[in-house]
Parts: sequence; C-alpha cells; structure tokens
Amino acid sequence: MSAAVFLDRDGTLIEEVGYLDRPERVTLYPYAADAIRAFNRARLVTVIVTNQSGVARGFFTETVVADVHRRIADLLAAGGARIDAYYHCPHHPAGDVAPYAISCECRKPGLALVDRAVRDLGVDPMRSFAIGDRWVDVALARRFGGRGVLVRTGYGAIEERRPPEGLSADAVVNNLIEAASWVISRA
Ligand SMILES: [Mg+2]
Ligand SMILES: [Zn+2]
Repeated sequence: MSAAVFLDRDGTLIEEVGYLDRPERVTLYPYAADAIRAFNRARLVTVIVTNQSGVARGFFTETVVADVHRRIADLLAAGGARIDAYYHCPHHPAGDVAPYAISCECRKPGLALVDRAVRDLGVDPMRSFAIGDRWVDVALARRFGGRGVLVRTGYGAIEERRPPEGLSADAVVNNLIEAASWVISRA
C-alpha cells in the first residue's frame, strides 16, 4: 500500500480561471512540473481530485474535462512529470443538466473519489496527503485520515483569512512547490 498525494487542480496545479471550458486555457504554474516530478521521485502516488460543477451547470461537458486532463498530462510530460490518475466530480445540486444535477458523494469534501483511488491504486489513506487552495481540500484530508496542506495560490490567500470553525490545516504554504517540500519531508 502506497502513500498518495491527492492534489486539487484549479488554483493549485494550474491557474484558477473560473470555469475552465477549453484545454487551451490551461496554464500550469511555473513550478508545477518540478513539484509533480518530486512526488514521482519520492514514489508518492499522485492523484488529481477535482470538483467540476461546470458540467452540472451546463458550461462544458465531461469530454472537455477529459481533454483538459490530457492537456495537463502533455504539459507535465514535457517537464518529465506524471500524474498517476485523474478523478473529477461533475455534479452539483444547483445544476440543471441531468443526470449531473444531484447531491452526490464524490464532490469534495465527499470521499467517493478518494475511495475510488484507494481501490484502483492500492493507496493507504492514513499515510496520504491532500493539497489544495480551498478548505474543502483540507477537510478532505481530515475525512480520509491523512494530512492537509492549504496553498495560497488560487483562492488560498482569501481562504486563509477565513478558516471554518473547527478546521485547521497541517500546513499553510505559498504554493505547490513549497507544499511538495513539506509533504516529501514527512512522507
Ligand atoms: Mg482549487
Ligand atoms: Zn459528484
């Protein structure tokens, strides 16, 4: 059983641009490939877990989500880095596209995507980490029994100023490369 890093996508690995509806709009943070390569070298299973309610809201389709993930994979590969698996939640209860307009178990901080990764990839959640720019990413780590890191990119700097009651991060760092150092030294 391996330790894993459950990575948020928008505002953490790539620039936050609102609803990302075209692969051409993907911009990796400049340190993204270095951070992922460091996880690869440390033999941490590296998994994207992302809420994509734009599908339920009718802004883009799951095909677009897959195209965006292929684009991210290509850009990372050019930097010698590899994400082991991509999981997304296309749902939202306030959406209007059937069958996605539901309240589900997979929207973070729901655990269904992590559970799927645990089964697919042989991950030990207790030894794993979540990294993201929202408190839901930290809450996800709490729920699966691992450690949670908040990054200040994306919405992170705003989120840092208004922590939800009863929830704190194991670390708050400037960006993904700092998160990678923190995680790798503790994995
Ligand atoms: Mg995010
Ligand atoms: Zn879902």
